[in-house]
Amino acid sequence: STPIRIGIAGYGNLGRGVEAAIAHNDDLELVGVFTRREPASVQTLRPETPVFAHDDLAARTADIDVLILCGGSKNDLPEQSPELAALFNIVDSFDTHARIPAHFAAVDAPARAAGKTALISSGWDPGMFSINRVYGEALLPDGDTYTFWGRGLSQGHSDAVRRVPGVAGGVQYTIPNEQAIAAVRSGSRPTLSTREKHTRDCFVVLAEGADAAAVREAIVTMPDYFADYDTTVTFISADELAQDHAAMPHGGFVIRSGNTGEGNSQVIEYSLTLESNPEFTASVLVASARAVHRLNQRGQVGAHTVFDVAPGLFSPKSAAELRAELL
Ligand code: NDP
Repeated sequence: STPIRIGIAGYGNLGRGVEAAIAHNDDLELVGVFTRREPASVQTLRPETPVFAHDDLAARTADIDVLILCGGSKNDLPEQSPELAALFNIVDSFDTHARIPAHFAAVDAPARAAGKTALISSGWDPGMFSINRVYGEALLPDGDTYTFWGRGLSQGHSDAVRRVPGVAGGVQYTIPNEQAIAAVRSGSRPTLSTREKHTRDCFVVLAEGADAAAVREAIVTMPDYFADYDTTVTFISADELAQDHAAMPHGGFVIRSGNTGEGNSQVIEYSLTLESNPEFTASVLVASARAVHRLNQRGQVGAHTVFDVAPGLFSPKSAAELRAELL
């Protein structure tokens, strides 16, 4: 059968991850990368991957079955997803949780009008974690859902650290609290404060002449980002930052703990341990692209979330193969 033709819009960490993930999926074929930068300036992982200007997209609607949007959630996707959903079937990883309903509406109207299918907010959180939260709640209505993140590098918190005056560089790791996880796994359904669930570890390179105590104080008291957590600040050299903190690990747990019948305790857990957050997220996005292509072929247009996609649609296998092999 003919491969599903995929385009990548935006080439950062996630874009690179999608390029790599397509190579692991025989039923998908990469048309190329579309960037807002000068195409010749963009170095792809694979030398054979073509790079085109973002502005060329409108002329390529006949060549691309699904466009995977790899721009940032803050500034890129709110603009690009509605615009491109009018031209292509799209997948995005929009992860500003509070804005997802508005983003859905902004994408749904143009997609529907154009007969295109969009899957927004795919990835792992939102994405795979969301699916597991839904299953947990539906199966154990008398229960509590817990999400723990980490150990992982948080891009948003790392950016916040780097904006502190006197900081030349740095990263932030979110660490789930082992005691809190153990309490949740025991089925005791504890009430946990923000501080009890996660700690935050920062590794910081000081700028020339900066006051370490003042930098530490500015970080640990920062509202929204650190004030509600136990935060450690470790000062390191620029070399150590480059050598030991360049990887982008992440992961976490979704746990639903509930009671059934006369009070028997049931615990459901889904866990991810990721050496590369962008490569894993990208792997979810390419499976999502396959699902979007099939939904569109079935005439299911407009915006969707992972809740609206039947699990078998993510798989390259046919429904008959899945019944025979995985049920
Ligand atoms: P990046 O900052 O690496 O890339 C975002 C965009 O910035 C790219 O698409 C690219 O667009 C542009 N860009 C990248 N590198 C450069 C550069 N050197 N100079 C100028 N512009 C550049 O973001 P990520 O790929 O790490 O993440 C994208 C989004 O994915 C995040 O905002 C996050 O919201 C989301 N995400 C979602 C997850 C989930 O589970 N749902 C998990 C992880 C991330 P262009 O090529 O057009 O210039």
